[in-house]
Amino acid sequence: MSTGYYAFHQHFGHDTGEDHPEHASRILALEQILHKTGLWDQLTIHEGRSAHLPDILRAHNKAYVNELHLIQPEQGHIMIDEDTLMSSGSLEAALYSVGTTTQALDDVIKNVHRNAFAAIRPPGHHAERGKSMGFCFFNNTAIAALRAADVHHLQRIAILDFDAHQGNGTIDILQNDQRFLLLSSFQHPFYPYTHYEQNKYTNLINVHLAQGATGTDFRQGVEEHWAPALKRFAPELILVSAGFDAHKDDPMAELNFEEQDYAWISQWICNQCQSRNIPWLAILEGGYDLNALARSATLFIAAMLQTQGKDSVVGLAKE
Ligand SMILES: [Zn+2]
Repeated sequence: MSTGYYAFHQHFGHDTGEDHPEHASRILALEQILHKTGLWDQLTIHEGRSAHLPDILRAHNKAYVNELHLIQPEQGHIMIDEDTLMSSGSLEAALYSVGTTTQALDDVIKNVHRNAFAAIRPPGHHAERGKSMGFCFFNNTAIAALRAADVHHLQRIAILDFDAHQGNGTIDILQNDQRFLLLSSFQHPFYPYTHYEQNKYTNLINVHLAQGATGTDFRQGVEEHWAPALKRFAPELILVSAGFDAHKDDPMAELNFEEQDYAWISQWICNQCQSRNIPWLAILEGGYDLNALARSATLFIAAMLQTQGKDSVVGLAKE
């Protein structure tokens, strides 16, 4: 069964300018390497769609959604927090991010694909129930999780987040809801600074990574803390907030992951899903050094494509 790749061209309308780290070239850089390595031809490519409002309203306040529509500029851009820029096409792109993610979700649940990668922007995991922040407007991952539970009637959904920054928005929306297990690893202490500590929540496991931590530290945290929690929870679906900004070359964090660490976590998730015969979906979050993002996400996707039980054989040495 093939791997689905979901993307949409409307994200170009979310015009953050040359100097903002979250810009359209991120997706272009990834797709360029997918083409170069031949992986593009192995993926099943889908053009995404816009969101359905009821999906968004499971995760966000109606007043907040209305406010975003009201403040969107007709031209130029506005800052809606110190990091988050909104241009005339940002809301449409944010709606497509949600719609494309939920389209991929429906397909993996219906076994159209065993796994899928949603190459979307703007990202979502910092967006809280009533607040944009950290380049995020709508929480794509939390929206997908709530749709999986409410529409597809899944009872246990695990959400893995290995972005360098804690997914505060996902925790804000899904905290203490026993249908969801939140497994997170992130630089600590670091943005967004007001961390959700796991001893205050019933469904949260944190792996703290100190400044300068490597992929070895990450792998150890996954095996020691994520693996037993995931085993106890016995998920029916795994959603992944796939941020690649823990890479050593990334300018937005201070961790030292390498490309191969992303191949490793992808293979690890594949193995978890294979043993339980469940699908999974990865949703793009951070990753701001274009080369590091593109190479890391490519190896991650290559591992998704591999026949289960075999090691990833795709290398990027010649790129
Ligand atoms: Zn991040």
